[in-house]
Amino acid sequence: MKATWLIANPIPHKSTSCNKDLNGGYGTCDEIGDSLSSKILAKIKKRSIKLPVLSLAYISSSLKEKSHSVIYSESYEDCIHKLRSQKIDGCIIYSSIVATKYECKLIEKIKKLNKEILILVVGSFSTNFTSLYEKADHIIMGEPEDFFSKWNGKINELRNKGKYINSKEIICLDEFPIPDFKEMGFRNFSYQPMLKKPTGFIEASRGCPYSCGYYCTYGANQGKLIRSYTPKRIVEIMINLKNKYGFRSFQFRDPVFGLQKNFIDDFCNEILNASINIDWGIETRADLLNSDKLEKMSKAGLKSINIGIETPRKEIALSSKRVIYDNKKLVQLIKEANSKNIKINGFYILGLEDDTYESCLETIEYSRKLNTFMARYSVATAYPGTSYFEDLDKDSRITEKDLSKYNQQNLVFKHKNLSNNEIKKLISKAYKKYYIRPRIFFMLLKDKIKNSFRS
Ligand code: SF4
Repeated sequence: MKATWLIANPIPHKSTSCNKDLNGGYGTCDEIGDSLSSKILAKIKKRSIKLPVLSLAYISSSLKEKSHSVIYSESYEDCIHKLRSQKIDGCIIYSSIVATKYECKLIEKIKKLNKEILILVVGSFSTNFTSLYEKADHIIMGEPEDFFSKWNGKINELRNKGKYINSKEIICLDEFPIPDFKEMGFRNFSYQPMLKKPTGFIEASRGCPYSCGYYCTYGANQGKLIRSYTPKRIVEIMINLKNKYGFRSFQFRDPVFGLQKNFIDDFCNEILNASINIDWGIETRADLLNSDKLEKMSKAGLKSINIGIETPRKEIALSSKRVIYDNKKLVQLIKEANSKNIKINGFYILGLEDDTYESCLETIEYSRKLNTFMARYSVATAYPGTSYFEDLDKDSRITEKDLSKYNQQNLVFKHKNLSNNEIKKLISKAYKKYYIRPRIFFMLLKDKIKNSFRS
């Protein structure tokens, strides 16, 4: 029997941006500060960044391949409305640390409304914290794509499976179906001002082998093994999605783009041979880039790079098992990127293990001096499931019980040198000092004018 599925991705109603695909699938919600300027910046960010949960797009594709119908919602109230007004056989809920409350409330409400609706929970967070989602019928353990693509489509057979359904990691990502964004509001997908809207979100690889997996959820949840699409397949997907949805750019969601040997060269050759003529952006480590790669990627359409800079201080980075890139080389790399009109977004962390108020101010100053297009600041967060959390927990330093506060904007542990109030002030100060200055204002304005002429 063909079924109708509600893919539910409830997000808190907030004036700031909340994206569950970020942060290794645990999600992030911004809280830049209480001042007027902070609130304005947060609102601009909410309007500019909108990305789908990629796993849900693969699941939607697998369900449709089995001739099931799919509806989608990101609002708790809208989910309830849909469940009341339509015949729905199953509900797939995406779990996250930032919206656990909404996801669990939805499970309880569905059980009250209609016990026959099958509830499946997916995501890295529910895989790590099954007990929070006990009221669901099933929890898909691990990355859900393999389970949904291999499932025979019979909903009644699902009912006979145990609560925990294992889904194995796919090694060659070419096995994934083409992501289906049809019901997900794809016209609003955006990664502005780094890329032209609407932006398609795709991935070329999963996994990250670096030691900073100590605190980072990507390392902890995707594993150390690099699993990748072939360059040929990823270019086929880009062509398909561009034609189907009219995307004007693509943002790669890989934690570190270009980790596999020769991938960047082969991918650029494929994209140039296919003459797609589309802008794209990546997130990567500075030590994986050089002049030749920048040159090649720029010719193939690269327009933006997110780089984790974290802190300028080597010893502070090392206290969190992070090795930072040589400052002079970083400055040179940013200069070269600027000369090729590739926008750089620098990511910084405040409140790393050995940080002090003064060292955080140094990080803020350093970020202002690096000539990047944008900057993002987050609070060092000990995420449940990482070794960092375990270490702090052993020392009884975890102070925050409210999971929604694990959003990269709050101190969730007892810091050696900083209080939560101080860190919040620092985050607010960082955004103000970075963005509220003429150079940045005019650069963003110039970019907006340039883009409006190109659209
Ligand atoms: S390199 Fe980046 S993605 Fe990989 S573990 Fe470190 S912080 Fe995470």
